[in-house]
Amino acid sequence: MLSTMQDVPLTVTRILVHGALVHGSSQITTWTGEGEPQRRSFREAGTRAVQLAHALRDDLGVTGDERVATLMWNNAEHVEAYFAIPSMGAVLHTLNLRLPAEQLVFIVNHAADRVVIVNGSLLPLLAPLLPHLPTVEHVVVSGPGDRSLLDGAAVRVHEYEELLAGKPTTYDWPEIDERQAAAMCYTSGTTGDPKGVVYSHRSIYLHSMQVNMAQSMGLTDRDTSLVVVPQFHVNAWGLPHATFMSGINMLMPDRFLQAAPLAEMIESERPTHAAAVPTIWQGLLAELHAKPRDVSSLTQVTIGGSACPPSLMTAFDELGMRVCHAWGMTETSPLGTIARPPAHAVGTDEEFGYRLTQGRFPASVEARLTGPGGERLPWDGESAGELEVRGPWIAGAYYGGQGVEPLRPADKFSEDGWLKTGDVGTISADGFLTLTDRAKDVIKSGGEWISSVDLENALMSHPDVTEAAVVAVPDEKWGERPLATVVLKAGSAADFESLRAFLADEGKIARWQLPERWTIIESVPKTSVGKFDKKVLRRQYAEGELDVTKL
Ligand code: ADP
Repeated sequence: MLSTMQDVPLTVTRILVHGALVHGSSQITTWTGEGEPQRRSFREAGTRAVQLAHALRDDLGVTGDERVATLMWNNAEHVEAYFAIPSMGAVLHTLNLRLPAEQLVFIVNHAADRVVIVNGSLLPLLAPLLPHLPTVEHVVVSGPGDRSLLDGAAVRVHEYEELLAGKPTTYDWPEIDERQAAAMCYTSGTTGDPKGVVYSHRSIYLHSMQVNMAQSMGLTDRDTSLVVVPQFHVNAWGLPHATFMSGINMLMPDRFLQAAPLAEMIESERPTHAAAVPTIWQGLLAELHAKPRDVSSLTQVTIGGSACPPSLMTAFDELGMRVCHAWGMTETSPLGTIARPPAHAVGTDEEFGYRLTQGRFPASVEARLTGPGGERLPWDGESAGELEVRGPWIAGAYYGGQGVEPLRPADKFSEDGWLKTGDVGTISADGFLTLTDRAKDVIKSGGEWISSVDLENALMSHPDVTEAAVVAVPDEKWGERPLATVVLKAGSAADFESLRAFLADEGKIARWQLPERWTIIESVPKTSVGKFDKKVLRRQYAEGELDVTKL
């Protein structure tokens, strides 16, 4: 028997129309560095999204599912592009402005982007690439920057504001199949070439509802979210869509991502929530210690992208900024798990432990663990295996390119269609995920596994350590052993013997797991989305560039 319910497509257009109408007075505030921030209501942004769609269709001739790329910071114009492009049926391709040039060229060509909307401040990045981007016909420039950098480029150049001016303020949005592509994002390539993930209208819609659930970020129109996670990093974790659904105000940092301006905008704009990867928060913490500010408005901080060190969570708790840890990937939209402790643990000794896990799976994300021999492992909180997931906002393939079938590499997708995450961990009986490591970062020492993350967290809880990354290096006897690379606080005199003793102290780390190879570095190399780049450390070690002491 078929249901008797209406079959209304779940589209980004619906989110736009709803947000602009029902939450029209909610605000997008964009930091400008000096003077008043730019303030724009959802109603105004919604109207401007309509005008942008007209400009793209009528002036630039964008039709069908053509790709329109953005090379932009987090700001109101980027939010307008987020809604205009999918709503008119085209596909938004957010470009990661921190990718190396050759990877940017690769992904623009692979996606066959026809238009690039770029912030003026990023023209020095885009202009030299244009000769290598044959599919790009139009460049639309928004915000301050030196336009002359585009002189002589074989593209048509437009001003964002001029394109919008005088355009109609209503649009007869097309009927879109909810399974159509709405947006695409390439993985940041931490573990290989960037791979294109294509989100559907439906996956974005359902994911936005999940983000808004009380058990997830649970924000409302009384909140203001400081969206530090870039809009090119998995759709800023779904926040621009989720905010339009619920009227949550957005505070956008634009290009002012250093700790000092972030602290300043928290103090003056008083957001209640913020989202970013741990490295951003480590920086903010140091800034707040050096120069205390009133950050009392900020009571919820979503941290994900890499494991949140316990020391960071504790330090934030002390400042009244409660961390909520979450796990996800480009392939999972990204919300996969979020660490809200279960009711029975709240207020008990167990609570902190639950908050440190990667979190609990929501109803729409199914999970299973696969052991080294392909066997299914129980959810007992002890059996560790590779995490596989499936659900309506989980990728089932990568974009193959125009006219090419989607790609389903066997190391990323199981035969029965689950995503193999490459993350290794355990799941407790009540559905909490604890990741021990990435499969590629685990240190395989004499048939046993050592978690690089456990070693890093223990090291970073030492008062003299700013950052620490641990990588596997070849060892004649054991196959692999850990190499500890440590960034010390200025003026610290800690030596390797004492750091090693600190790790062994109180059984923090089992003796056989203690690193014997140590080196001091100035900073941990980071990927384009601010994660520890262990590929670089492994290469530096292999090429003898690190000054390693063996204890
Ligand atoms: P890339 O894979 O290119 O780094 P993603 O942003 O998609 O780009 O990264 C997803 C990966 O980040 C996950 O597979 C996982 O290894 C790591 N990750 C994300 N969140 C967490 C977390 N809370 N704890 C530990 N690892 C995390």
